[in-house]
Amino acid sequence: MALNAFTVDVEDWFHICGVDDRLPPSAWDRLESRVVPTTRALLEDLAAAGHRGTFLVVGWVAERFPALIGEVHAAGHEIGLHGHWHRRVYDMSPTQFRDDLRQNIDALRAAGAGPIVTFRAPEWSLNQRAPWALSILVEEGLRLDASRAPVARVGSAAFPRRPYPIATAAGALLELPPLVGRLAGHAVPLGWGWGLRKAEPSAVVEAIAANNRQGDPAVLTVHPWEIDPAPPRVRLPAPLAFSHYYRLSGFRTRLREVLAGAEFGPLCELPDAAAWLRA
Ligand SMILES: [Zn+2]
Repeated sequence: MALNAFTVDVEDWFHICGVDDRLPPSAWDRLESRVVPTTRALLEDLAAAGHRGTFLVVGWVAERFPALIGEVHAAGHEIGLHGHWHRRVYDMSPTQFRDDLRQNIDALRAAGAGPIVTFRAPEWSLNQRAPWALSILVEEGLRLDASRAPVARVGSAAFPRRPYPIATAAGALLELPPLVGRLAGHAVPLGWGWGLRKAEPSAVVEAIAANNRQGDPAVLTVHPWEIDPAPPRVRLPAPLAFSHYYRLSGFRTRLREVLAGAEFGPLCELPDAAAWLRA
């Protein structure tokens, strides 16, 4: 059984929350898509390391590149949801969120995704600003959520750091938080984003091992655009520019070292998640 989970948020370089003024969905079809070769590169690196993972896919990507979803499914990875239009949950109404979720599910089913039980919100946005969304996930058939980052700003440092159930009016979900580290006394990203790109691979591997010694899994998250050798860039507000462009150089090489240093599988096969899904 997998001790840790490796997850990929399958989106293109232009799927960035909160910048509808410069990268509106109406413009996406005219931009150069790079999600297929970069997702394939991650599939190759996972296969070389002997791991499977969970690919959380933006519905827009599944509609345009259904063959890619078939490749991910055929390689034995779990497929889950990352929003149809990659919108922050707290920017939508409950009705808009449900419609987006259904579009996302339909696009993935049409592409041959297999059973879908797992959701991850764009930009960790199923947080304290959108508690109403949890019951909608349950009502739409989801069992696992990986959307609540235990760090300030995008989530809350008060969120638990190991898998935990969340009760909703419609039933319960199992929440699977991403790996955090500490910097100057604060919880910071370590298993994703700028924190994963900043860290030396040996430090990430040691943090994963420390979690495992306590009986806890580590959940890592990457995006296909993070391993793009020459990603197209747009001018972004400073926090977004940092989270999207900081230390991309050499990341694929460092990520391979992390993959070689621990055992990974899909979210649904973490011991807590497997027991949850059997119950
Ligand atoms: Zn995303």
